[in-house]
Amino acid sequence: MEKKYSRTQLIHAGRRKAYTLGGVNPVVQRASSIVFDTLAEKKHAIVNRHQQTLFYGRRGTTTHFALQDAMTELEQGAGCALFPCGAAAIANSILAFVKTGDHILVSGSAYEPTQDFCQKILADMQVKTEYFDPLEGAEIGQRITPNTRVVFLESPGSYTMEVHDTPAIVQAVRERAPDAIIMMDNTWAAGRLYQPLVQGVDISIQSGTKYIIGHSDNMLGTAVANARCWPTLRERAYLMGQTVDPDTAYQAARGLRTLDVRLAQHQENALQVANWLNEQTEVASVLHPAFGDCPGHRYFARDFIGSNGLFSFVFAQRLSDAQLDAFCDHLQHFSMAYSWGGFESLLLANQPEQLNRIRPVGKVDFSGTLVRLHIGLEDVDDLIADLAAGFARINNA
Ligand SMILES: *Cc1c(COP(=O)(O)O)cnc(C)c1O
Repeated sequence: MEKKYSRTQLIHAGRRKAYTLGGVNPVVQRASSIVFDTLAEKKHAIVNRHQQTLFYGRRGTTTHFALQDAMTELEQGAGCALFPCGAAAIANSILAFVKTGDHILVSGSAYEPTQDFCQKILADMQVKTEYFDPLEGAEIGQRITPNTRVVFLESPGSYTMEVHDTPAIVQAVRERAPDAIIMMDNTWAAGRLYQPLVQGVDISIQSGTKYIIGHSDNMLGTAVANARCWPTLRERAYLMGQTVDPDTAYQAARGLRTLDVRLAQHQENALQVANWLNEQTEVASVLHPAFGDCPGHRYFARDFIGSNGLFSFVFAQRLSDAQLDAFCDHLQHFSMAYSWGGFESLLLANQPEQLNRIRPVGKVDFSGTLVRLHIGLEDVDDLIADLAAGFARINNA
């Protein structure tokens, strides 16, 4: 696991003295109005308002600037736009680059609300969405049309964890549509385990709600763009009124300092649980990108520096409603909840037909019940014992 961006850099990112005022962390600057003492100062602020000069609260305060600097450095871009949540980051990043009549390509295992946004909002704007199999590489070039404006990736895919051959996709898109914008939902990698911009992606989007905030107590979206896309993304996100409060920006900047050690522990715990699951007769398969049989594993091994706490497994059988209740309702350490990326373990169960409803291309190739786990920072023995007791309840149900 070669680390391109060091843990030391992550500890220091964005902590300029102008923002910390001599403390360790950025000061929380709460402001709508920014006061100018002279007309000359106001003029200076107008000209430089895009470049971290205080202008008006919606353009950000020094707390936002500190987080934006850190995220830009982490994801190796030219700038970072902040949003109230990941869904807003996705919607506004796409909207910044499409117009009526355009065509966009979206990964078939993209996060469900991303697909819904395309089906509902983009469709009403006569922007046509075409989904592609997440395992398509260079073949995606054949889908490019003269009006293809955005290619939207997500890797590993939601629930089923397919990993893209991103460099092959980037090359094919650049050859046929040099002006198309390639975006990736990089939430799984937290900007840390994989760096899309380094492989030629234009915009890396995250739900900072997950590992960056890291404690399941706040929401944030980030979009880091390269130099070619940053001015458009910045201005359009601003015109759409996208901002986040400074307290949340502070929490996110603080979360970054422990991101690496948390990810390492999530990874270790999750691999232990995944290996245990792999040996259980009740389990047909474990969908974890670090496992050799995960679709796209070889791209994962090539491009990612590690894994995290989120993966899925598939039961050998389809659980009945009574079995599902028996399994899910009495767990001691796993809560049922949407979202993930906090310190605690979570679980969500889905039947194959529920997954197929959000799979526009290619149905799932299994008939058993799928469970997505987020493995938290608990003692891993407790988690395994909890799952083992759940399996016993299924067999008795
Ligand atoms: C949670 C999530 C989002 C949406 O983020 P919110 O902050 O909940 O709006 C987008 N993409 C992925 C992969 C997610 O897990």
